[in-house]
Amino acid sequence: MKKYLHYIRKKYFAPQAMVLMYHSIAEPESDVWDIAVSPANFEQQLQELKKAGNVVPLKELTDGVYNKSLKNNSIAITFDDGYVDNFSTAKPLLEKYNLPATFFIASGYLGQAREFWWDELEHLILFTEQLPLAITITINNILVEVSLDEEATLNKVLWQKHKVWKAFVEKPASKRCRLYLELWQQLKALPEDELLQHLQSIRSWAGVARSVRTGAISMAVEQLQELEQHTLFDIGAHTVTHPALALHKRAYQRQELLLNKSFLEKTLNQTIELLAYPYGSYNGYSMAEAYEAGFKAAFTTEGKVISEGDHPYSLARFQVKNWTGAEFKQQLQLWKSKKLAAEAAV
Ligand SMILES: [Zn+2]
Repeated sequence: MKKYLHYIRKKYFAPQAMVLMYHSIAEPESDVWDIAVSPANFEQQLQELKKAGNVVPLKELTDGVYNKSLKNNSIAITFDDGYVDNFSTAKPLLEKYNLPATFFIASGYLGQAREFWWDELEHLILFTEQLPLAITITINNILVEVSLDEEATLNKVLWQKHKVWKAFVEKPASKRCRLYLELWQQLKALPEDELLQHLQSIRSWAGVARSVRTGAISMAVEQLQELEQHTLFDIGAHTVTHPALALHKRAYQRQELLLNKSFLEKTLNQTIELLAYPYGSYNGYSMAEAYEAGFKAAFTTEGKVISEGDHPYSLARFQVKNWTGAEFKQQLQLWKSKKLAAEAAV
């Protein structure tokens, strides 16, 4: 009986916390991975969080996991990748509501006049007016062969489909969507130099130049420094080139973690203690290397609540979607009651 009561207490009354994962605060033409939240919805979500009054800095939450002092129902806000809108749009809103947040930065994209590769590929495949009729390309020894036929020319119907297609939850809405998904899957597995070479081949096939839409790039180094200066905000690591770590050798993983960490530490003149695995991809080597590199904790994209005693190098996070304040509030309740778990992509 005593043992049973202990189990009940542990299962139902142990303190639990949640970490929220955002990427971009913007309204892009399409959002196949559900990673953009509109500024209006983001503000409504912050209003809900403010009302709930339980947002804590991620460091405090992580310490709680370590020290068994987790504040029950506490929530931490995080952003992945380093999109420029984190600085221009999210920062002022977080300041307005006085809410802390941690920004995980892929340093290879910082201050670069280039888009995150998945965004450029999405724009290129789904929205280029005229593409060739078919593509044959070998990536990573896998042959990708897709005929676009009548979809080579973008029409209004196709454009509309692409604007709303979600790669996670729906089957490809068109041949172009299928092509995007196949290319994304193959490119994601590559080291960056090979990935960029293939991306260039795909641009040449499409007959388009490299796209650099100002809203889709990373923030500048100075913006990151300004962000970090604010007491509400903290910076975390997200590798240099954003590889799917589990698909790479241990030495490659180590290099990605160490170079990212040392660059951020030098640029910001502070110790970087927290890491988020790109695409939520990690294995035993990633965890070991995160520890070796001196990270205190690392975060995945597995949608689960966090409890004391969770492994500090595989802490879960929930991906926040483009929900209104009311929808977001409902979602938080669902997550809290563990009725919903989700995986995220980017
Ligand atoms: Zn990322």
